[in-house]
Formats: sequence, structure tokens, C-alpha cells
Amino acid sequence: MELLPSLLAGLRTVCSAFPDPRKGRRGNIAMADFGLSAFALFFMQSASFLAFQRALEKGHGHSNCQTLFGIEKIPSDNYIRDMLDAADPALLQPCFGRIEQLLAAPPLRRAFGRLGDRTLIAWDGTEYFCSQKLGCPQCLRRKRANGKIESYHTMLAATAVAPGHSKVVPLFPEFIAPQDGAEKQDCERNAVKRWHAKHGERLRPLRPVYLGDDLFACQPIVKMLADSGDDFIFTCKESSHKALYDFIDGAAPERHEEKIRKGKAVETRRYRWIAGVPLRDGKDAALVNWIGFEIFDRNGRIKYSIAWVTSLPVNQHSVAEIAACGRARWKIENETFNVMKNHGYELEHNFGHGETFLAMTLAALNLLAFAWHSALDLVEPKWQAAREAAAKRSSFFAHILTLTTYVVFPSWPTFLEALATFTIPPELLQTQKIE
Ligand SMILES: [Zn+2]
Repeated sequence: MELLPSLLAGLRTVCSAFPDPRKGRRGNIAMADFGLSAFALFFMQSASFLAFQRALEKGHGHSNCQTLFGIEKIPSDNYIRDMLDAADPALLQPCFGRIEQLLAAPPLRRAFGRLGDRTLIAWDGTEYFCSQKLGCPQCLRRKRANGKIESYHTMLAATAVAPGHSKVVPLFPEFIAPQDGAEKQDCERNAVKRWHAKHGERLRPLRPVYLGDDLFACQPIVKMLADSGDDFIFTCKESSHKALYDFIDGAAPERHEEKIRKGKAVETRRYRWIAGVPLRDGKDAALVNWIGFEIFDRNGRIKYSIAWVTSLPVNQHSVAEIAACGRARWKIENETFNVMKNHGYELEHNFGHGETFLAMTLAALNLLAFAWHSALDLVEPKWQAAREAAAKRSSFFAHILTLTTYVVFPSWPTFLEALATFTIPPELLQTQKIE
């Protein structure tokens, strides 16, 4: 049991360096406690976690915030919001850097390596806050049909995914927010350029293949990736790529077919591809490889159809794997955003908005909690045992909340052991201080 304490030590170092807006009167709560407290509620998946720990602290003199997270003193919710508003989410990058190192190490390589030990990183934008009342200078704005102005936040998420693997690992996102000196409102395509400028070089050891929807299959982004030697698989719709589809219209693509048995049914997967296709009109158009993919049922009816453009060389040995990787892009919607919004992380819940960074920093801490959960699910045996004992994800976090509400556990191994065995060590039940 080394990973979780070392991740927490890294987070503590990062949170200690958050700017302290308390001029002159530093107060009796350490800067690290604000970041760690906010993180703890995302990690434990309960907005009530801190309140329950405060109650426990009253009765026991200490709580799981101290023993598990190293928080010396639990600040009030408002105090946390006030103090974190000045913390730029970019300060959390080293914690995500640690996740990138895990992705480069053998256990996660085995889980996530595809296309010859490469890492698939899916890009996609998602909205995580929207209000007609609250807002901050980092909000984007839009006018609703009723004439009201709505403030909202979106981010470009980058997530390591792999076909055939249920886990996903979020990396540091790029927040879509008003940019200094920009005339137009910020957008996903600009955000992806900033993301790549900040992280592309550092992630090169993972040999990333970037996945994205049709929006990213455009000349500037394809050129940006080609210039830096990076590869991509992007959805390519006919409706937004007229020149490309005119070019391939009538061409004879190469073909490959596979029959796949699914229970009693047999489906046919047809792959077609053409190399060196211009992405758009004009002499300077980037050349890409186009892949069309269809699934037919036994009666020859099309059940599913999609097309991509890619920089990867396509042949009859590689086409099925490239297509499977292209299809893994949906995992950022289904297994990242859906989980983040509807299964415990409450990404769209307003935990606090602030005036500078708060909304973004809380979202980044929430994503970090998700990244830790995925990493622990994959490599930490004690965590895996506790997780398996609960069977369902929701039960696991319900058990976490119940146990930590009544008992102070001295360490993570003791706590995870209790979760895995449904047994609380008797000595822990005798620590109640009698006033
Ligand atoms: Zn805002």
C-alpha cells in the first residue's frame, strides 16, 4: 500500500504552494488543508464528508481527515471556497504529471497499450457549470431564447482510453474560458491547440494517438499534429468534409471484411480505406488516410456506420485495430463524462463558484479524484480487494461514507481492510472520548 500515501504526499506539496490570500494574519489553518479538504470530498464521493468528519472531530478529538488525508484542521466550507479562489488550477499539473508517469509504467502499459504499445488520448469538450444567476470573469456567456444571459463553463477533457478496457484515466484538461486579447469567444479547437502546446511534448514518451470527433478533423489541428510528429484518428463526417468525400467518390477503396460471432448472431464488419486523401480543398490541404467502417447484420442490413481520417498507415492487418481505437473515443462521453456527471462525482453540481479560479480548480480536483480512483482500481491490491467486496461502485462509496462517519481509522490499510472484510477492528470502537 504505497501508491495512495505517495499520491497524497504529492497533493499536499502542491496544495501547500497555493497562494495564501490571508495578508498579515496567516491564521491557524495551513494552506494545504484547504486543497486537501476539497479533494477529500471528491475522493470520498460525498459533499457531506467534511461535515461528518467535523462531527467526529468533536466527539473523538480527531477524524479521518487527519488520519487518512493528513488534514490538520478541517476548515469551514466557506473558508475553503474563499481560500481556493486564488489557486490557479494549473498549479495542480504536477499531480496529473504523476498520473502520466503511472500511465508510462508497466501495469498501466499492459492495460492501456494499443497499436504497438501506444496510448490513446481522447479529446472532447464538456460543459460543467451553467447558471443565469451566478457567474465569474472566467465564465463563457450565451443568450437564451427567453433573452436571458446564461453564464457557463466548459473544458476540453483529455482522457487515456483503450478499446476493450473499462477503465479510463483523465489527464489535465484545458479550460475553455475568455482569453486575454482574443476577440472571439474561446472554443474547443482553440483549447486543443493550447492543450497540445502545454502537454504534447511532455507526453511524447507515451507515443500518444489522439482521438477526437469530427470537429477536430480540420486542417489546423491535423497540421499541428503532423508538424510535431503526432498521430490521430478523428471522426470524419460527410456533411462537414464535402471536398474530401467528392475526392473519394468513385475511387476504389481497399477492403477487408471480418465475420464476428456475437452469441447466436453473426455480424459482418466491413472496412474500406483510401490513403493520401486531401482533407479539404486547396493545394496545401493536409493528406490523410480515410477509413470507412460498417457493421452488417446477417440479413445484410447496416447496423452501424462511421468514418475516420487518420495519420496512421492503414493496411489489412492494421485496419481493424485502428477502427477499434477510433471507436474507443465514445468512452470519453460514456465512461468519463457520464460517470463524472451522474455517478458520484457530481461534476455539474455547484460546489462553489468564486470570482477567479474556484469553479475551475474544484473541477480539476474532481477530475484528479477520478484519475486516482482509476489508478487505484488498476494497481493497488488492497484497494481492489475493498472495491471487489462491495461489488457495486455505488455500494463501495456508500460503505466508505458509513464507516468513516462512525469510526476513525488510523491508516488507509486498516480502513481498506475493514471495507474488504466487513469487519471493524474492535480496538477502533473503544476510542470514543468520554467527556
Ligand atoms: Zn464562472
